[in-house]
Amino acid sequence: MKKEKSKPIFVLQILLNAQILYICISKNKNEYLNMKLLEGKVAIITGASRGIGKGIAEVFAKHGANVAFTYSSSAASAEALEAELNSLGVKAKGYQSNAADFNEAQTFVDAVLADFGTVDILINNAGITKDNLLMRMSEADFDQVIDVNLKSVFNMTKAIQKTFLKQRAGSIINISSVVGVSGNAGQTNYAASKAGAIGFTKSVALELGSRNIRCNAIAPGFIETEMTAKLSEDVVKGWREGIPLKRGGSPEDVANACLFLASDMSGYITGQVLNVCGGMLT
Ligand code: NAP
Repeated sequence: MKKEKSKPIFVLQILLNAQILYICISKNKNEYLNMKLLEGKVAIITGASRGIGKGIAEVFAKHGANVAFTYSSSAASAEALEAELNSLGVKAKGYQSNAADFNEAQTFVDAVLADFGTVDILINNAGITKDNLLMRMSEADFDQVIDVNLKSVFNMTKAIQKTFLKQRAGSIINISSVVGVSGNAGQTNYAASKAGAIGFTKSVALELGSRNIRCNAIAPGFIETEMTAKLSEDVVKGWREGIPLKRGGSPEDVANACLFLASDMSGYITGQVLNVCGGMLT
């Protein structure tokens, strides 16, 4: 006859199993939380003295990446970011470099290679707006936005291409915009630059995929940074209300998508556009 366990022993055994299960779950949870997706990698981020670029630099450094970033004129913010990132135990350096200038982009990449030894990830983030109705838009405002937002993507990709080809690896992420997909009244220059970045992304993915170089674009929606702080409170309220998730995005929201596309977690993804827009563009 099968011998029944006494009730106290049975209860004790359940408690013991529950405790073992709890220890296993919390250990895995901590391991998951401490998992660094970019340990030892070197990332270039253009335009990281503030806004989305700064958010990407912070998330990347927390995930173990060494960060070389550029800025246009915000030297003090760049210096502060450099110190903040270095305090996280990674190597970080800010460089004043105009991404729109072909020669400056090459000089910057050469300096990064001399300082860091290699580069694994390129984030083309630097961007500006000069909004106006087409009727009032000057040629200079059209050209400047195309140069900073689109020509810069060409400049930086050209400058890094040889390094990525040699190491047969690399992840390029171009920060486009939902308006590059949908268009936007008052932003012909900006929308054209961002649509151009998507075409460039897909072409690079096709050209360099056989060398294990991936190229993807992120299309942020309404992200609350200095760029969008120029808008009136009414416009901002309207944007927020129209977004299915009912809020503007944060630089960290975009940075987390970059983290995925930069890491080996996205090893089979190239030539894609990832909308980070709270459902604005479906
Ligand atoms: P932001 O707050 O205005 O910051 C722009 C950054 O780019 C700054 O670090 C700036 O440096 C740098 N920069 C500007 N011109 C440059 C140049 N010629 N060379 C190198 N760096 C330059 O902009 P953000 O909102 O973070 O936007 C970042 C990117 O996301 C842009 O490409 C933007 O088009 C795109 N985006 C933004 C939104 C949004 O809602 N915010 C939505 C879709 C896409 P300084 O500080 O020295 O001026």
